[in-house]
Amino acid sequence: MTRRFVLATANVDKAVELRQILTEVLGDVELLERPDSVPEIEESGVTLEENARLKAVALVTATGMAAIADDTGLEVSALGGAPGVFAARYAGKGATYWDNVKKLIAELEGVNPPDRGARFRTVAVACFPDGSAISASGAVEGQIATEPRGDGGFGYDPVFVPDGSGGLTFAEMRPSDKHAISHRGRAFRALAAALSSGGTQLADMA
Ligand code: IMP
Repeated sequence: MTRRFVLATANVDKAVELRQILTEVLGDVELLERPDSVPEIEESGVTLEENARLKAVALVTATGMAAIADDTGLEVSALGGAPGVFAARYAGKGATYWDNVKKLIAELEGVNPPDRGARFRTVAVACFPDGSAISASGAVEGQIATEPRGDGGFGYDPVFVPDGSGGLTFAEMRPSDKHAISHRGRAFRALAAALSSGGTQLADMA
């Protein structure tokens, strides 16, 4: 039986990435784009899990179909875990990726490696019309670079150096190499594995 989900993300790059990962693990799966008629969902939760669920439930309510959503945070040790769940709005409401990167570099001025440690964390959720849900999380550890490098990816990619990359930022890596170790790649592979085994418990792939 083909499984059908509507994706909560309106970000085309993220949708492509999710399609690749979920199809790889689940095989026969139909993923529908978020309908334009569904309004922007306010991410009013204080945890990644809450925000991911808010987005998925809004899509289930609007479409009557099972929905998949995710939320990502960046936790920087030297900043006490900031920006965390507020990664998208770190430099204020409506901030661009570049505004956020500039603020992060400024906040870490004078902090030297190895004290620039950080972690991306993603919570991925599948919610169903009967009210049930499955969640999974994934994380990647790394360091915040002192200057942005690379043209790929988005968000904080030019300043995030994942452990084991030989010093490359995510923005300097091939997309497939990033996805193989990324927070979102890990969270969605864990979600797909939990869905394919029919589980309803929290799955983790750090
Ligand atoms: P979202 O929950 O996926 O929308 O992510 C929130 C914010 O985290 C984004 O606006 C980006 O600034 C940042 N972010 C999420 N995923 C990534 C990533 O893979 N690389 C760099 N930044 C990311």
